[in-house]
Amino acid sequence: MLAQKETGWSVPDVCLNFINGKWVGGGAQLPVINPTNETVLTHIAEASAQDVDAAVQAARESFEAGEWAGTDLETRQRLLFRIADLIDQHSDELAWLETTNIGAPIAQCRARHVPRAAYNFRFFAEYISQIRSDAYTQLENYLSVVTREPVGVAALIGPWNAPIALTSMKIAAALAFGNSCVVKPSEVSPLTAIRMVELICEAGLPAGVINLVNGSGAVTGAALAAHPEVDVLSFTGGTATGRAIMSAAGRNLTPVTLELGGKSANIIFADADFDRALDGALLSIFSNNGQQCLAGSRILVQEELADRFIEAFVERARKLRIGDPLLEDTEIGPLATKQHFERVHSFIDTLEADGCELLLGGKPCEGFESGYYYEPTIVRAPNNKAVVCQEEIFGPFATFQTFRTADEAWAIANDSKFGLLGYVWTTDYATAMAAHEHVKSGVLCINSPIIRELRAPFGGYKESGVGRESGAACEAFYSEVKTTAFLTGDVPLRKLGMGGA
Ligand code: NAP
Repeated sequence: MLAQKETGWSVPDVCLNFINGKWVGGGAQLPVINPTNETVLTHIAEASAQDVDAAVQAARESFEAGEWAGTDLETRQRLLFRIADLIDQHSDELAWLETTNIGAPIAQCRARHVPRAAYNFRFFAEYISQIRSDAYTQLENYLSVVTREPVGVAALIGPWNAPIALTSMKIAAALAFGNSCVVKPSEVSPLTAIRMVELICEAGLPAGVINLVNGSGAVTGAALAAHPEVDVLSFTGGTATGRAIMSAAGRNLTPVTLELGGKSANIIFADADFDRALDGALLSIFSNNGQQCLAGSRILVQEELADRFIEAFVERARKLRIGDPLLEDTEIGPLATKQHFERVHSFIDTLEADGCELLLGGKPCEGFESGYYYEPTIVRAPNNKAVVCQEEIFGPFATFQTFRTADEAWAIANDSKFGLLGYVWTTDYATAMAAHEHVKSGVLCINSPIIRELRAPFGGYKESGVGRESGAACEAFYSEVKTTAFLTGDVPLRKLGMGGA
């Protein structure tokens, strides 16, 4: 172990793969970089196609053995609750690992990401005790009963922007419905997934039920997505990767859910509660260093309010506390990787040709000797055609446009290849109802930043995704439905083969 801290927490020297209850090595060692100072934090032992195959086989064997899939409800619930408790008990450590790995401010990791991971396990532990099933009695002499069974082996591929919060959702759901799984974190952000798997084993999950493979998307992820023994695949990440994964899985007829990118409109009407809308708009784009699929990155303000709102927004953004994400009062830390930092900055080159005005930022932060710190950036765009209004930038990068009428606002909001979230701020009930009717997005928040209600479906329209995540949506995805028809009466059967010789 290296980087032993005063706390006793540490980053592993090498991030190994977890296959059939054992931590084992892999092929190439890929560096994991600390985004705060650009030093090598650790390495991952990349899982080859053979390692992925071993992980899938371990999951398959554990599933067939029924040690987890066949457990009774109470045993399964107890274990899921125990995992949640262990996550809570290690929340400071998990937040520290997440921040150290991806640069998200520690206060946000501790207050939001880690509690969310614990809640995911508690939510599904409770959900499974409330599952109901149907019985059909209308057909005379038959009772048809609908039940659900675990599917088998779930492949769970997660992104780097909020690893513990997002990967825990997939793991909790897959396990709750009795499946075995193979988890593939992003090569950028292996640390909390590894620690979470350790805690899950400490809670007592049988060997082979959860497996973890580290490695790049091109090698490890692609091998997992294409594996014929995977029964379902749940993916969160970028839209281009989602397409590749769906094609690979499609060749095996493996069902997928895809939680993909977004470019969500945040629509602010002149009658909105100004202060709340301002707070909400800042939270929606600058939380998690702007690296969030649900960012309200296209801010649309009604014309009569625009100058006052934009001025106040820029003033507040100028005062964001940028710095070491391990410091408690930091509001913006570094972007997660050099490649991503360069991509975010590259959008500045598009501004002039699109007639956009740069109101704040647009460059790496000054005063940092190293690290991927990028200034909160605000752009005013003349229309929605601007590249910065169409492409997901995934950083602390807000765009402003104005609109006159509600119809114009809906048209701009819907003029996007994405459709993940929508945000609307208004005190007028009729406008809120109209937004509900017209905004084309999987989730819509009225007078609120994102609120994640796990009972309700989360996911996107258009290129923002395929399928949904929620209690019921995960039940449908992570279990097979079976109809069993019982004969209950006396039904004569037609007799075949009674003809003459
Ligand atoms: P990404 O580049 O698409 O990667 C996501 C995961 O897929 C990583 O584990 C990646 O591995 C892996 N991967 C890459 N290529 C693969 C392939 N050919 N086959 C199988 N796996 C492959 O996404 P990201 O940059 O990590 O995350 C940012 C994106 O995620 C944004 O677009 C964001 O909007 C989206 N996101 C969506 C949601 C949602 O709920 N809708 C939530 C969070 C993030 P490596 O990283 O190791 O290459």
